[in-house]
Amino acid sequence: MKKIGLFGGTFNPVHNGHLNLLRQVQAQMQFDELLLIPSHLPPHKEASDLASGKDRLQMLALAVEDIPEAGVCDIELHKSGKSYTIETLRKLRRLFPTAEFYFIVGTDMLLTFDEWKQWRDILKLAYLVASSRDEGEYERLCEKAQKLDRERILVLKTQPFPLSSTEIRRKLKAGEDVAELLPPKVLRYIEQKGLYR
Ligand code: ATP
Repeated sequence: MKKIGLFGGTFNPVHNGHLNLLRQVQAQMQFDELLLIPSHLPPHKEASDLASGKDRLQMLALAVEDIPEAGVCDIELHKSGKSYTIETLRKLRRLFPTAEFYFIVGTDMLLTFDEWKQWRDILKLAYLVASSRDEGEYERLCEKAQKLDRERILVLKTQPFPLSSTEIRRKLKAGEDVAELLPPKVLRYIEQKGLYR
């Protein structure tokens, strides 16, 4: 059975923190395919420091060019309004009726997972793969996984790369150097398009 890793986010823009997580998860999980799914953002936000869906998708595609299993998926960009994970998973299930889905979440998202819309149904459609940054967090995440669904929630140990898109946007606006924080192709795209100024 085909194993597909799914990784969603705003990716505004994608950065080395995301890629670090993705590479480590892939090294441990060996997915047949990895789909990166940028989320829809309200149009009024896109006008300020948020890049358009098309630009975010394009930057993601450039960022994962050297990860052979990875590709981008625009399923949430076609929808106006917020996409809930459960709705996205149902759509993906129709596209991939027999695949096994693994929904990857960064750092501490698992701790609030039981506040997500229909989280039990999410776990029926996909395994949840949560990453921990250190030993203390690993213990906490394992406890949470035990409490919610020990069969369907996997907790991985990963090396952290502390960074956020917010920090990158701030640095770009201030004219600071971000070359170490993004793949060179993504930085070139941002510069060519004049994004985040
Ligand atoms: P912003 O600063 O704009 O809120 P962000 O950098 O947190 O953005 P998102 O696109 O919101 O990035 O994140 C998508 C996914 O990547 C989430 O699951 C998030 O937890 C995870 N993630 C973000 N940054 C990192 C990082 N440095 N290391 C590991 N996971 C990360």
